[in-house]
Amino acid sequence: MRRPRAYTSVWLLIIVNLAGKAAALCVGLTAPAAAVALWLLPDALLAYHLFVPRAQGLVKVHRRFATSQREVWLTIDDGPDPADTPRILEVLAEHGARATFFVIGKNAAAHPELIQSILAAGHEVAHHTHTHPAGSFWCASPARLAGELDGGLAVLRAAGIHPTRFRPPVGIKNLWLATALTSRGLVYTGWSARGLELQGGDADAVARRVLRGVQPGSILLLHEGPRLPAIIRVEGIRRTLEELKQQGYRCIVPAAEQLR
Ligand SMILES: [Zn+2]
Repeated sequence: MRRPRAYTSVWLLIIVNLAGKAAALCVGLTAPAAAVALWLLPDALLAYHLFVPRAQGLVKVHRRFATSQREVWLTIDDGPDPADTPRILEVLAEHGARATFFVIGKNAAAHPELIQSILAAGHEVAHHTHTHPAGSFWCASPARLAGELDGGLAVLRAAGIHPTRFRPPVGIKNLWLATALTSRGLVYTGWSARGLELQGGDADAVARRVLRGVQPGSILLLHEGPRLPAIIRVEGIRRTLEELKQQGYRCIVPAAEQLR
């Protein structure tokens, strides 16, 4: 069986890192400046691939989809939420929009009725970890990573869903992520643009941010839930849908073979 490209990259990054450390120790006394550079540069390379959402070194990140139509993919993270999800479903229905909800497993377990409402309205439910460990996902051990993936999968499967799409918290990677996703039939779904709802401003500002540079095939990321400022909860999604309609865009859920 062909080994996934990202799996090879993990070991390459580790080897480069260790080689850098060894070289730094070798030249440490004779060339201290070079030693510092050799020590730190591989760490910077590793950090880039772990923390920069668009970096492709550790796992294939889908950031757009192929289409010849004026279509975008709206994705909504961090739900389901008892206050927001029902209202978001109404807004989506008003605009004839389809979306994918990347849900947190424990939220889905607490509100199975919301998961069924999302499905009944014709939207997709996808995997956004079981507990959303944004601060520690990058360094989670293979066992803990498996727990995050399998915990969420168990909740979704109990609801009759077999998700194929996964998005980690804040787009952060993990050294073991590519193989863990492949073995579970999940693909990493990134985004083309996001609303950055915690950066301030009102719903208009969120819509402006997520639609800056929008084009056919864009993957748009917005959020729901209590972490958001009250002024933009649901309203950021509403304003984005209004603006998309103005620009002649339709919100669809692309097929797997369309992902790029
Ligand atoms: Zn999230």
